[in-house]
Amino acid sequence: MTALAYLDGQWVNAASPHLGLSTQGLQYGTAVFEGIRAYRNLGHAQIRPFEARAHFERMHASCQALRIELRETVDELIAITEELITRNGHDDDCYIRPVACKTTFLPGTPFGVRLSGVDHSLMLTSVPMPSRLGQPTHLGIASTRRVPDTSMPSRAKISGAYVSSALAVDECAAQGYDDALLLTGEGRVAEASTSNIILRRGETVITPSLDQGILPGVTRALALDIARHKGYEVVERPVELAELFTTDELLLTGTGVEVSPVTSVEGREIRDGRPGDFTRHLCQRYEEKTRIEDTATPLKEARP
Ligand code: PMP
Repeated sequence: MTALAYLDGQWVNAASPHLGLSTQGLQYGTAVFEGIRAYRNLGHAQIRPFEARAHFERMHASCQALRIELRETVDELIAITEELITRNGHDDDCYIRPVACKTTFLPGTPFGVRLSGVDHSLMLTSVPMPSRLGQPTHLGIASTRRVPDTSMPSRAKISGAYVSSALAVDECAAQGYDDALLLTGEGRVAEASTSNIILRRGETVITPSLDQGILPGVTRALALDIARHKGYEVVERPVELAELFTTDELLLTGTGVEVSPVTSVEGREIRDGRPGDFTRHLCQRYEEKTRIEDTATPLKEARP
């Protein structure tokens, strides 16, 4: 079956080339994107995009940062996502990748690197992707630092910023780690390559605050909510690197990693190297929210 993609109002063959060689986003990284998982809901035998509204609201904000005027509303983007899942015949967990990319100069715009006066394209693709909920991560610390908010709006999910994530992952993977922790310019804890980091010490759940130049993760917000409901005190503040080595629990949250216990940092085990109570509770609640509860966007029946 040919995988389809949504491109500016059309359904096209995802494997065919569609963008020109002078695409601005390709040359300068001037594009924004999202990653959305869709889960097979056990009760309804449906494939439902998870937290699609929150992702597309963030995408609209990212577009604003790059002066991309999306023609599609959040509701329309959710509907396109649902149609994409159906058209591509997904009958199990999958991953949707929406991208809004700067393309070509509008008439009268002079040649050069710029945001204004440049057209854009919106595309959505999907691939099958099984859950990896609860899979432990051995984290390395990258020498590459998180791109600071003063250089690029870190609350926007901007393609060009991922060069530093890619450098960090390569560096840490070469040393045998699963993922990379990026520090802020000041050497504090920022986030992992594509996920946020959360600590638990006693009854307190701690995570770097948004002023640390991190992406406001959809899964991070969900995890903090679950923590509050469970009775933990939630504190968002700058986090020193040294705190990671004296914490009771450490974990990553993100659409890709879902909820992942960090069992070691730079080879040093966190506690006994096993997922703690909070992480296990989070995994259980995440599973319930994605598979059982009726909170996800409803979608047409999946094929049996
Ligand atoms: N930080 C970065 C740099 C990311 O790329 C991601 C993945 N989008 C996250 C955090 C986690 O965000 P979310 O939970 O919305 O997927």
